[in-house]
Amino acid sequence: MGAATVGQVYRIGWAMLKPEGGGKYSLGSVTATTVALQAGDLAAGVSDNLAQSGAMVNMSTSYSLSFEDKMKKHPSTGDLWALEIIESLQLGSTGTMMVPAVYVRDARGMTADFPSRAWYTGCTQCKKQLDAIGATDRRCYICPDHGENKGKQVYGGQLLLADPSHKKEFAVWEETLRRLTKEFLGHDDLDKADVMDDLVRVLRVAEVCVRVGVGHRKNGMVSFDLFDITPQVTAEGCLAVYRATSHALFDGSPGVSQPAARMSWLTRSGS
Ligand SMILES: [Zn+2]
Repeated sequence: MGAATVGQVYRIGWAMLKPEGGGKYSLGSVTATTVALQAGDLAAGVSDNLAQSGAMVNMSTSYSLSFEDKMKKHPSTGDLWALEIIESLQLGSTGTMMVPAVYVRDARGMTADFPSRAWYTGCTQCKKQLDAIGATDRRCYICPDHGENKGKQVYGGQLLLADPSHKKEFAVWEETLRRLTKEFLGHDDLDKADVMDDLVRVLRVAEVCVRVGVGHRKNGMVSFDLFDITPQVTAEGCLAVYRATSHALFDGSPGVSQPAARMSWLTRSGS
């Protein structure tokens, strides 16, 4: 079906949509299935007769949500230790967790040779870091999975976060890095030399509130998507600290103690 161009449509007869749980569907067919490519007026006719685009349901698994969509997801509040538990127990459900009162202890690039860079040379197919082989003038790059590859600049870094409960390292990618430098350094130039060092310098003294998307990989491991890092002193950040307080200062108030908040998250995401 790769040969179709924008404006053309496929009409598929005798297809079956089977719910697989978790908002996912599998699309199957029987031997009598017909597939017809339609172009021009016929294609336009089909498109015009579809439901309102806003009312249509996208059946594709959404692998990467936009930042705005991620921010709309209701977060649970917890600490870094809760994330550690989720990872070690490989809890199966997905969710978003807001972790207040966090410090960034370290920020560095993905390559050991250039820790202050916000990019590395990655495979054009899978983004994996390439091994450089040969002298500078006749250097070639090798991907462990795809062999020789000319490579491209991939933006990414590692952030070491710490709160009173734990220390944990997270990978961050281009979109988050740009937002981070914009928020804390006032620019979004990720090619700037030593940009990761600059980030450490400003973030070490800032108390921040982070949001982490929790998902799972095909191999059953938990994946973390650190997508938002904002200064703690926002209405939402302060409120998150209040909700996550581990002190029994607010007995009888609607404040939720940290163990209780953690339990409710585990209960909701467990089983
Ligand atoms: Zn590759």
